[in-house]
Amino acid sequence: MKFKGENIITFSERFKDDTSCLAYLAEIKWAKGFTCSKCGCTQSSVGKLDYSRQCHQCHHIESPTANTLFHKVKFGARKAFMIVFEMTASTKSLSASQMAKRYGISRTTAWLFMHKVREGMKSSQSAPMTGTIQVDEFVVGGRENLKQGRSRDTKKKKIVCAVELSENQKIKRVYALRIDDYSSESLRTIFDQHISKAATIRTDEWLGYKPLAKEYTIVQVLSMKGSNFKQMHHIIHQIKTWLRTTFSWVHKDHINRYLDEYSFRINRSISKQTIFHNLIVRMVTTKPITYQVIKVSA
Ligand SMILES: [Zn+2]
Repeated sequence: MKFKGENIITFSERFKDDTSCLAYLAEIKWAKGFTCSKCGCTQSSVGKLDYSRQCHQCHHIESPTANTLFHKVKFGARKAFMIVFEMTASTKSLSASQMAKRYGISRTTAWLFMHKVREGMKSSQSAPMTGTIQVDEFVVGGRENLKQGRSRDTKKKKIVCAVELSENQKIKRVYALRIDDYSSESLRTIFDQHISKAATIRTDEWLGYKPLAKEYTIVQVLSMKGSNFKQMHHIIHQIKTWLRTTFSWVHKDHINRYLDEYSFRINRSISKQTIFHNLIVRMVTTKPITYQVIKVSA
């Protein structure tokens, strides 16, 4: 049965121990039946305590966490579920050190698992944004200054952001990602990943957007210190504040993971009831990722 809601009491009663969490994972993992990963046999028996499956033919035992983002999580399924719940139900999330204290695990362990959760939050890029879109860039980190224009400060991380608006001009979806520079080639990443060719895109007058107008419908307008991009500037402010107050500092190689988390939450703010369940499903169906991979890649 799908867990719904944001109530922490209901949540902790439903997932009262590791076993109840493993049962939940097993139900999702083998929803369409069991197929042995070693020999392909579809007959199995269920382990009583951990909901693992033992293949009838080759006797291989597979746990509900094997080959998922919960693979080799050392601190137990219940703590893992609690962390996923914190990262979906709350609006602001926590830093790795806050999470570590709250669940009695090391900071590195918390940091690593939270990045695994973010891996599950990554966009599938299968539903590009359509309709009216705003695209703009901004910087985070380094020293803040009030000067307008594109910063050349190399310590700052450059981010391009796209906001999809509803018919009544409300924010519908947001995607953001780190870019190396403001060239057309770098800017186009967000177009290719998240924007439909049928969309109408508003940008400021930056030359870098001009070459993209061959493939996309781009309307370039004066920014007027942001007044022509009100929704966009609201989002930029929110992302900057969130990164600065929750994490204080993020490495440039990891910033895209934090931005994935931001998008995942804001794009599902109207489906908060099922956000936890949907993320667990994604984490069960996503292949495991190691510390080494997380350390070096964005
Ligand atoms: Zn087998």
